[in-house]
Amino acid sequence: MKRTPRSRPTICVMPDRLKRSRRSTRPGQPVALAAAMRSMFPSSFVAARLCVVFVTLASGAGFASAQATDPVEALGYHQSSEGRSLVQAALKSANAVLSSSSSFRLKPSWSLKDRKARSPNDILVFNVATTAKPFVIQVPFQSCRCIFVQEAAFRKSVDRYARNSKKTSEIDPSELLAFMLLHEVGHQESGHPGFMDQESPDLNFDDNEIKARERAADEFAAKALVTASKDGGRVDAFLAAMKLEMALSKVSFNLSGLRIVDHFGGSTLCSKDLFADKGVSHPNFELRILVVNDIISGTATSRQLLTDFERCRLTGSR
Ligand SMILES: [Zn+2]
Repeated sequence: MKRTPRSRPTICVMPDRLKRSRRSTRPGQPVALAAAMRSMFPSSFVAARLCVVFVTLASGAGFASAQATDPVEALGYHQSSEGRSLVQAALKSANAVLSSSSSFRLKPSWSLKDRKARSPNDILVFNVATTAKPFVIQVPFQSCRCIFVQEAAFRKSVDRYARNSKKTSEIDPSELLAFMLLHEVGHQESGHPGFMDQESPDLNFDDNEIKARERAADEFAAKALVTASKDGGRVDAFLAAMKLEMALSKVSFNLSGLRIVDHFGGSTLCSKDLFADKGVSHPNFELRILVVNDIISGTATSRQLLTDFERCRLTGSR
C-alpha cells in the first residue's frame, strides 16, 4: 500500500509571504486582520490540506475583530464540544511538561469565561467543529495566541500508525496531540512567524529556512520532554514526559515497521518516495521523529536508526 501523504500529522510551517512581514511573536503582540488572512489563504487552498498549520504574523493593523469576537467565528468556523476530552487530556500532558521549562500554558477555550482575563502566557486551544475540508491544527492569529484543533481530523491523521494492528502498536492519540502542541509552543517561544503546510508530491531533499524552523520547534518539544523527565521536583511533569517519550518511541517503531512491511523493496533500495521530504515546508516525518527520539534518548540505537535513515536520504538524493 502506498504511503498517503495526507495521513501523516503535521506540525506547522509558514509561507514566504508571511516571512516578509515578520516581527516579534511574543505574547501581547498585535494581530493580523482576518480578512487579510482569508486573502492570503483562500479557503480552498487552506482546506485542501488535511493537516494544515499556519501561524500569522502580527501585521500591526490590529486583528481587532478576532479579539473582540470569537477568533474561530472570525474564520467562519464553529467551536465543538465533541472530542473535547481528547484535547483536554493532551493539554494536561503538555502543560505538565511545560511546567518544567516554559512560561507558556495551554488553556482550553471552553474553560475561560473571559478571554481578556487570561495571562499573557496563556495559549488558548479551540476545539473546532469539522469543516467541509478538514484540517488537523491551525494557528491562525499569532497575537491571538490560539490554536485550533479538529479532533476528528486529528484522529484520522494518526490512525495509520497509532492504532492497534498486526503491524503497529497502539498509541494514545492524546499523547501525540500533546507533542504537536509542544511543537506549536516551540514556535511561540522562538518567535517564529507563521506558515502553512504545503506538503506536496514534490519529493525533495532540499533544505531551507522553513524546514529549519520546523526542526527548531521539534527540538524545543524534545528538549522540554528531556527537562521534564529530569525534573525531580515535579512528579506530574516527570510522568507526563515519560508517557510522551514512550509514545514517540512507538511512533518511530510503527513508522519504520509500516515502511518495511508495506514497502520492503523501497526501504531496501532507499526509495526517494519513502525517504525524501514531501514539499518545501516540512522535513520527512519519519526523519523528524527519529531526530526527536535521538534528542530524547541519545542512545547508540537512536543514533544508529537516525544515521541509517539519513544514509538512505543521501543515497536517494544522488
Ligand atoms: Zn511547526
